[in-house]
Amino acid sequence: MKAVLVGVGQAGGKVTTALAEFDAEMGFDAVREALAVNTAVADLDPLPVDTVLIGQSRVNGHGVGGDNELGATVMAEDSVEVLDALTNRITAEAEAIVVIAGLGGGTGSGGAPVLVRELRRVYDVPVYALGVLPARDEGALYQVNAGRSLKTLLREADATLLLDNDAWRSTDESVEGGYGSLNRKLAKRVGLLLAAGEATHGVGESVVDTSEVINTLGAGGIAAVGYASAPAAEDPAENVTALMSTTRKAVMTGLSLPEATDADRALLIAAGDIDRIPRKGVEKSRRWLEDETGSMEVRGGDFPLQSDRLATIVLLGGVQRSDRVERFLERARQAAAETETEDRDRVDRVSAFDNDDLDDLL
Ligand code: GDP
Repeated sequence: MKAVLVGVGQAGGKVTTALAEFDAEMGFDAVREALAVNTAVADLDPLPVDTVLIGQSRVNGHGVGGDNELGATVMAEDSVEVLDALTNRITAEAEAIVVIAGLGGGTGSGGAPVLVRELRRVYDVPVYALGVLPARDEGALYQVNAGRSLKTLLREADATLLLDNDAWRSTDESVEGGYGSLNRKLAKRVGLLLAAGEATHGVGESVVDTSEVINTLGAGGIAAVGYASAPAAEDPAENVTALMSTTRKAVMTGLSLPEATDADRALLIAAGDIDRIPRKGVEKSRRWLEDETGSMEVRGGDFPLQSDRLATIVLLGGVQRSDRVERFLERARQAAAETETEDRDRVDRVSAFDNDDLDDLL
């Protein structure tokens, strides 16, 4: 899938960069363009990709803090600048636009849904969101912001692929310390997914096609992507177990949205040397995936790569009913309720001064 990436906000810019770098390192050329948009100069400066600074008249390059309503306002006011920067980058060969953002912050959380809506108005290709959910231990504001942003993205985007910042976290890794490796892991999964439909060598009828990725993402829901790899033997017959086990791992421990296995649709991509991919293993893995997801719509295909390893990439579409998503929404709702109570307390405390006998200082 030839894609144009637009990162909004700090996380958006960093994940976009990681994806563009992975795609270039692998020589896939599925990422056609990458642009980073932000209200904060300091977050844009270190990025190697092209950038657009928005909201200068309101925040003067200093960012919006965690205020995602301001992030949305700024994007609504300045989206023309972003669209202008994209005009020459989104050519007729682009098959999708991916807007990438951390949903818990301000600029990306508020700006991404607005930009997605504008892009869908202008372009005929699908506009996907790639959203980062805050980890459980991030503050209430992050959870509330992410809840609102996700709700809006679900309405505006063709599909929303989620990365949970609690995914793939090793026990000794703080979230912040882990961003580099988290971003690289995400870039690998999404990068392989985008490139899978672009495979040119060793093409056979079982090779996965971009339309299968698009159909699995579906219209309007939440998606998750998983990955795992293992060494491959020369003889495909010896790789049946290896492929089954990478498929299981991709879903059970490798998903970008852990445990979100209740899916409407699924796509299983077997990546590796085409002569080592076991047909029987692919069939068995597909059946396992049908059972695990409860989906009747499980597609499958190969991604031929020159490698002595075998990998499984699993894309799950329509996972919005899964417990993991429900638990996140509950966390966001609870955080919103707590924030409201705190605001009321503050008003109560202030109004307690209204009728006392103290004089103001000024
Ligand atoms: P913005 O610049 O105002 O859009 O805010 P951020 O992009 O910093 O969004 C904050 C959220 O993104 C928090 O939930 C952070 O945990 C998360 N975040 C920030 N940077 C990264 C990153 O590089 N990778 C990942 N995965 N998450 C990040």
